[in-house]
Amino acid sequence: MDFHVLTIFPDMFESPFSSGLISKAADNRLLKINCHDIRKYSTDSHKTVDDYPFGGGPGMVMKPEPIFLAVEDLQASNKIGDNSRIIVMSPQGRMFDKNIAKELTRYDELVLICGRYEGIDDRVVQNLADEELSIGNYILNGGELPAMVVIDAVSRLLPGVVGSEQSILEDSLSENLLKYPQYTRPRSFKGLDVPDVLLSGNHKIIEEWRKEKSIEKTNAKRPDLIPDKDV
Ligand code: SAM
Repeated sequence: MDFHVLTIFPDMFESPFSSGLISKAADNRLLKINCHDIRKYSTDSHKTVDDYPFGGGPGMVMKPEPIFLAVEDLQASNKIGDNSRIIVMSPQGRMFDKNIAKELTRYDELVLICGRYEGIDDRVVQNLADEELSIGNYILNGGELPAMVVIDAVSRLLPGVVGSEQSILEDSLSENLLKYPQYTRPRSFKGLDVPDVLLSGNHKIIEEWRKEKSIEKTNAKRPDLIPDKDV
């Protein structure tokens, strides 16, 4: 999958994806993160990307022309094709979750448009984007962190990015359950012992114990995840 991020702060994307699974996946050509500086598409001599809001009010609004030009350039150079999705990061959007992350893996390219200031001229939202996505009910200073969240969560679900498929299937929230408690060495630490069952070597009993703990944890921490309380 190709991610195309439209931002006025492309440098922000260097460090978060320069290590770990995503960097490895990029090295293995499973995905590519391309950052495009919206300012480069500004046509005036001052490289302006924002302007005062019509009708008055506080702050500045991101201008539509550089954003349209940037997307048109991606289309004209065939960097994005028919199976792409153009998304504006916005607190007004559909709430991003694991189902949307899965849904987005269907596309060949995702274009993530990052707002700043008071937001983006609504003509971009209405006439260029396929949808808006929010990462939570709070206001961030820009769409860069939300775009990174989307890239990270979607990448994890792309074939080959996470070494073990099983690991994804057992992640919290899959099957609407939180993951069972996990322990590693040492067996005993400050008088706190690892549950005996995990040292038993009996895989059937371990599996049953994990399922039971998973349900217990979900009931205690996230009962909202369980649609049928008799699980
Ligand atoms: N005034 C705007 C409003 O009330 O909808 C918020 C502007 S916010 C300061 C600047 C940019 O940050 C937004 O255009 C959006 O791209 C991004 N942003 C802020 N909070 C976000 C969230 N919860 N989810 C996704 N993007 C967000």
